[in-house]
Amino acid sequence: MKLILLGAPGAGKGTQAETLSRELGIPTISTGNMLREAIQNQTPIGLEAKRFMDNGQLVPDDVIIGIVEERVARDDCRNGYILDGVPRTIAQAEALERFGVAIDNVVSIEIEDAVIEARMSGRRVCPRCGATYHIMANPPKTDGVCDSCGSELIIRKDDRPETVHDRLAVFHMLTEPLKDFYAKQGKLRIVQGDQPIHAVYREILTALGKSV
Ligand code: AMP
Repeated sequence: MKLILLGAPGAGKGTQAETLSRELGIPTISTGNMLREAIQNQTPIGLEAKRFMDNGQLVPDDVIIGIVEERVARDDCRNGYILDGVPRTIAQAEALERFGVAIDNVVSIEIEDAVIEARMSGRRVCPRCGATYHIMANPPKTDGVCDSCGSELIIRKDDRPETVHDRLAVFHMLTEPLKDFYAKQGKLRIVQGDQPIHAVYREILTALGKSV
């Protein structure tokens, strides 16, 4: 199964990808997490990506295409994977096709901008393992501490309200056209993101034709 999770920043892609990955036994490839790791390790890619990410802009396509091509070629991807946050432009989607990646399903998690802006203010992430939480909808067992690895949770710099606004504008302009791109291929499934996490998850499974 090669699955793309599409949706605005804050739509819940990362949260759903974590559960789907466990249930389906395939890895999640999150370009956002890979880039944040590169920033932490101060690699050349990280240094280049940081200035775009801090401003809510997309990292250039050639950087993303390079890291994804390398990642999908690894061994753990042979039974499939979940793409979380990539592709984000038509050029990235076309690059996947060039690598011979045959996507089976594209699930678009839909949610209104106003709901997202309210939601993002409660988001917390683990800087070490990338797990995501929400102080109301999906709190960690211990306040401010990652359930998976025990690290202290942080607020991402690009979750600041003014940056979220810019990221949503970028989403509508550059990423939303992917819905049409995949609808024309008959691969697009729509789920409603403004519901409790488990309800969104059930909708995704139904959309994928899996028993709930
Ligand atoms: P995310 O964690 O998916 O919300 O990504 C955080 C930030 O990383 C985005 O706002 C972009 O600056 C950058 N980024 C992540 N994935 C991509 C991508 N596929 N294309 C371009 N930029 C990306």
